[in-house]
Amino acid sequence: MPDCKAFFNTPEEIVLAIRHAEEQTSGEIRVHIENHCTWDALDRAKEVFEELKMHNTRLRNGVLIYIATKDHKMAILGDEAMDKLVGDNFWNEEIHQLRSFFSQRKFDEGVIKTIEDIGTKLKRFFPADADFTDNELTNEISIG
Ligand code: CA
Repeated sequence: MPDCKAFFNTPEEIVLAIRHAEEQTSGEIRVHIENHCTWDALDRAKEVFEELKMHNTRLRNGVLIYIATKDHKMAILGDEAMDKLVGDNFWNEEIHQLRSFFSQRKFDEGVIKTIEDIGTKLKRFFPADADFTDNELTNEISIG
């Protein structure tokens, strides 16, 4: 199991970024880290998405940021409603940007920027709904 503190300088800032992003949208963002990924990162992200029951959102607008910390593999996976609306380009651009942050060892900054970008997209497609303000998926970092 990876040490969250060893990878992120301030994991609490990541959780805070998720909370802020979610204040403006009904969408949900989660971050999962683990040491190694021997598969294709996106395939593994799909499995983690299932394990974390991230399909359990009313509007199917959960987004997972998956990171294998030691292998520097990463994937971003949006549930079907979000995925349909943003298209592959957005995810690819975000992964490209995240990789660039990681290559400079800016792990916290990279993930926070990615959360903010996803939050902005979620806000556009799934604005906050006064009737549904639940935090459907926990904001805590998932560690595998
Ligand atoms: Ca949440």
